[in-house]
Amino acid sequence: MITIAENIAQLSARLQRLERQYERSTSSVKLLAVSKRHPVESIIAANKAGIEDFGENYLQEALDKIQHLSSLRVNWHFIGPIQSNKTKAIAENFQWVHSIDRLKIAQRLSDQREPSASKLNVCVQVNISHEANKSGVELGEVEALCDRVAALPNLQLRGLMAIPAAEPDLDSQRIAFRVLAQEYSRLKPRYVQFDTLSMGMSNDFEAAIAEGSTLIRIGTGIFGPRS
Ligand SMILES: *Cc1c(COP(=O)(O)O)cnc(C)c1O
Repeated sequence: MITIAENIAQLSARLQRLERQYERSTSSVKLLAVSKRHPVESIIAANKAGIEDFGENYLQEALDKIQHLSSLRVNWHFIGPIQSNKTKAIAENFQWVHSIDRLKIAQRLSDQREPSASKLNVCVQVNISHEANKSGVELGEVEALCDRVAALPNLQLRGLMAIPAAEPDLDSQRIAFRVLAQEYSRLKPRYVQFDTLSMGMSNDFEAAIAEGSTLIRIGTGIFGPRS
């Protein structure tokens, strides 16, 4: 428990240093704690240490945690691949979805979101590494998908997300993130509330911040290795 708080304190200090180093404005990079395959006790510890946003990949595991922690004031982000039969529970229980990669899923999420609730915040996931096994829409299709998603009544298009292939060093990591950042800047004027560039994980968040990330998704760096 002490280590989670310590990890968060160290990470926050590093984040502040990186914002200065790469001339990003203060607090322009948000920390999303990826709690998949970590117990509710770890989430409680991270929340006590100031984290308010948690990311989960596996629906049933996430629903158990959300129900168990219903008294915590936190935002739940769905960041994993989405099958059609999972959209209803996601629309009903999450505040954010980062992994929109086809219109059908976005349409179902909008249809199944309670109109009286706040809009579901979504990011379109982009496949910037051209790996056949990675999810995400190809770069050339991002704009068309964003236009359709932005028109859905119960979703709020907030930005783009990507998980690039692992690269060995900072420079090659930066090249991959730059591709997404350029597309983000190009599209930003088109959509109201388009303010989120979700990129960077435990092993590459420095490169992501250097290239303009506004939200880094950190699991291992906060909670330690997953079981
Ligand atoms: C698991 C996961 C993360 C966190 O990965 P770490 O390397 O543990 O920081 C971030 N984003 C997505 C989409 C993930 O699935």
